[in-house]
Amino acid sequence: MTSAVIFPWQQAVWQQMKPAGNARQHHALLLKGRRGIGKLGFALALAQSRLCRQVDAAGRACGKCQDCYWFEQGTHPNFRLLMPEALSVPSESADGEGEGNQSEAGSAKSARKPSQQISVAQVRALDDFIYLSAHQARDKVVLIHPAEAMNTAAANALLKKLEEPPLEVLFILVTHNMALIPLTIVSRCQQVAMSAPDQAAARDWLIQQGVADPDFRLAMSGFAPLQALQYDEQQATYHADFIRCLSVPEKLDPIELAEKLHKQDLSSVTGWLQKWCYDLMSCRASGRVRYHLQQMAVIQRQAVVIDPVACGFLWRSLVASQQLARHPLNPRLFLEEILLNYVDLIRPARSKAG
Ligand SMILES: [Zn+2]
Repeated sequence: MTSAVIFPWQQAVWQQMKPAGNARQHHALLLKGRRGIGKLGFALALAQSRLCRQVDAAGRACGKCQDCYWFEQGTHPNFRLLMPEALSVPSESADGEGEGNQSEAGSAKSARKPSQQISVAQVRALDDFIYLSAHQARDKVVLIHPAEAMNTAAANALLKKLEEPPLEVLFILVTHNMALIPLTIVSRCQQVAMSAPDQAAARDWLIQQGVADPDFRLAMSGFAPLQALQYDEQQATYHADFIRCLSVPEKLDPIELAEKLHKQDLSSVTGWLQKWCYDLMSCRASGRVRYHLQQMAVIQRQAVVIDPVACGFLWRSLVASQQLARHPLNPRLFLEEILLNYVDLIRPARSKAG
């Protein structure tokens, strides 16, 4: 199980959220923020502190009492963690937010693909836990991660529980994408914006974790420190190659590139192109790039050629393709299509002619 951890950049939020004397927390919290910034670790720390018998002055769980022991073993009787099956497969990861990689690893091992959704059955299974008396009549915590993985039926089943919550139950919902959470759920939760570290703080933290090339990894993972930590060497090689191909637009061959990359994690490849397009738009609009600082020159050259509106469309379509990328029918065709769309963008005249 992912461990409870309060990252250095979360201290301010922790101060606001920590259990404080006899003031009760809201019965349902919705932690929102980008993927890969440590929301799950924080949510677990919050859950553990609610169950711990001897929190310290900063409101953190003691790590020594019976409750902390159970919690850390993943066997606390007053705690339930709801995740999609695909995320709950055992992993080396310290985070649990690097969803793409983890779920791929999990599905490779078993014949049936683990579900990416939180089902209504999982939510209904909470009934006894929530409504029957607590172990030693104490607080109970339900953690749902990520909340957007609940399908409609599951969300409706949860809504009933949020509407008439037993006093001693705390719900903690975690989301990477607020737009996907039904408003009926949102309206019953206290929203908590989870901060991302600035680049210097993220860099310091990665160095502490023993990462030798923190700047490169941060840029390549969209400045999400936990994803940067998981960024693996083999993927880095393919990614670097991908950037090299995009940096020589005259020679870019979408069919050849799709052939090279179709065995990679397609969600990652889609994300690479998404970041590239983001930089094209950003460069065009403000002269700045966010991800590809070393390719600034080539991005500047291309940014003046492209149609910014078309680039925006492509970027949005890539966001949508992220979902599809997890289970494409034909990986090679999937990549060919998104790369051909990209070539249309950078060589508009040529694509119309031929
Ligand atoms: Zn404790």
